[in-house]
Amino acid sequence: MTLICVPIFVEDSASALADAHEALHRGADLVEFRVDSFFTGGRDPAAEGEVERIVAMVSDCKLPCIVTCRPVLEGGQYDGPDDARISLFERLGTVGASGPALRPPRYIDVELLTYTRSENLKQKVNLGVDHPAQVRELSTSLILSTHDFHTRPLDLIRRIEQMFQEPACAVAKVAYRARSLRDNLELLDILQLAQEHGKPMIALGMGPYGLMSRVLAPKFNGFLTFASLRRQSATAPGQPVIGDLVDLYRFRAINSATKVYGVVGDPVEHSISPMVHNAGFEAVGHDGVYLPMPIPAGYEHFKATVLAMLDHPGLDLAGLSVTIPHKENLVRLAREEWAEGDGRWEVDLLSEQCGAGNTLAVRRDGKGRATSFEVRNTDGAAAAGAVFAAVPDLRRVAVLGAGGTARAVAAAFRNRGVEVFIVNRSQTRALALKAELEGLHAEPSLEPSGGVPRDQARLPALRVLEASALIQVKPQAVINCTPVGMAGGPAPKESALSSEVLWNLSDQCVVADCVYRPLTTPLLAQAASRHLRCIDGLAMFLGQAAEQFSLWTDRSAPMQLFQTVARESLA
Ligand code: NAP
Repeated sequence: MTLICVPIFVEDSASALADAHEALHRGADLVEFRVDSFFTGGRDPAAEGEVERIVAMVSDCKLPCIVTCRPVLEGGQYDGPDDARISLFERLGTVGASGPALRPPRYIDVELLTYTRSENLKQKVNLGVDHPAQVRELSTSLILSTHDFHTRPLDLIRRIEQMFQEPACAVAKVAYRARSLRDNLELLDILQLAQEHGKPMIALGMGPYGLMSRVLAPKFNGFLTFASLRRQSATAPGQPVIGDLVDLYRFRAINSATKVYGVVGDPVEHSISPMVHNAGFEAVGHDGVYLPMPIPAGYEHFKATVLAMLDHPGLDLAGLSVTIPHKENLVRLAREEWAEGDGRWEVDLLSEQCGAGNTLAVRRDGKGRATSFEVRNTDGAAAAGAVFAAVPDLRRVAVLGAGGTARAVAAAFRNRGVEVFIVNRSQTRALALKAELEGLHAEPSLEPSGGVPRDQARLPALRVLEASALIQVKPQAVINCTPVGMAGGPAPKESALSSEVLWNLSDQCVVADCVYRPLTTPLLAQAASRHLRCIDGLAMFLGQAAEQFSLWTDRSAPMQLFQTVARESLA
């Protein structure tokens, strides 16, 4: 079982013990007392008091603990002499000898660099820990560790081998700043390698790209993962809080067979998809975990990262939600791989028509080998589905915008035989969208997997209109596919449609918005005040998420739960 360890920066021993108590109640297995700013290493009587307070704190702690006194050189705060902290470790490790009432720490953490600096230091550390040549009965074990807060160390493998070779090393730990998602794959490989050597191992990526290695540690039999008690008390960048690790990512349920899913984009840290899909997996009993997967803009980043994750033997990547700026990159990747002879790639008609997809589903055989990669665009169908649910006899719809979402939504309506009016700030862009959608080939270049009409010739024409012309053409529904009204967007306070146009639409017109932050956009607020029926952006979000979920799990999405979780997450 992979342990959850809560690190605690010790300022005073009473608060540290209170935090350790809270960690126990939140589900931690272990705490790490970081004493590097508490312990000065001085030789005066005051410093002796520090040692005794640490001894008492460790002894009083209800959870097993690691004691770490990290020097500045390895990203910690201790700047006293090495001799003093090594003496502290020896005192802690042998504390049982001074009285049975005192409990020693389960582990001490010493940096590989310190441990191998001199034979003298190594011998002094070894005096306080259990190891094959130890003559005393000691119950404290040694974690040897190595850190790099900037990048992957060039000599990483040599450092790991060195730790493996030290007889006193009970657990080896590497932590470095992940430069991209791909660094996680190497960290997971390191865990696998350690298993082959029979050595418990901690291998963690720091920073925003490192979350995958922290959450997936149980899948690769990692010894432990660190989780902070509070968002502001993380001891390393990218450390998750224990509540998220346990409740959101269901860390305790992750095992070697767990399938991995994620949302790929930039940014993805505010995405509500992890909350929705992880809750759904738990509800239907699907053995999967869904993570935010940041990939910076640029096709080369996307291609290299996604292919590396798909090829990784133990990762079991089973599905991706793909968001801005990579929706086009997903279809491009599928086309390129297909053209290079990999016939496992399939693209549905809507993704093919739009040149953009938001979903990847990976099927694997019993040996974990990928047998198909299915690309879909569930955005357009979800928006069209939400509007059709409100207007079953829909024949005329106005799409506001001519960007990526508008393209998918317009194509989805048109595929269902609806006449589409495109209204956009830039007429040139609207005309380009019309030409692009009308000029589509009747057959996609790859095998289509969606169930939409293929005969483009029979599909209705698209019309580009000024917003004011909507008053005459009387659409049965209007859907906003621009970011106007979105919090943090280009025009958060504006309505995507002028009040003059809105007040002159038919009384039966349904007004929908793709924006879901906030749920009630200025457009929907205006429409509601006119007593028009409204569909908020959550309907589209939930629709696209539900189709992804069914594709990945072969089960229907628990819509009520999706709805509740999404609303709570947005609130
Ligand atoms: P996009 O490709 O950047 O398209 C932007 C479109 O909006 C363009 O047509 C642009 O007009 C127009 N626009 C931008 N700022 C404007 C302004 N101030 N006034 C008038 N028009 C403006 O964006 P997208 O990817 O299509 O996304 C559009 C919205 O849909 C976003 O808010 C996104 O969050 C939302 N969305 C929601 C879901 C969901 O699940 N609910 C899914 C996907 C997207 P020009 O051509 O004149 O520049």
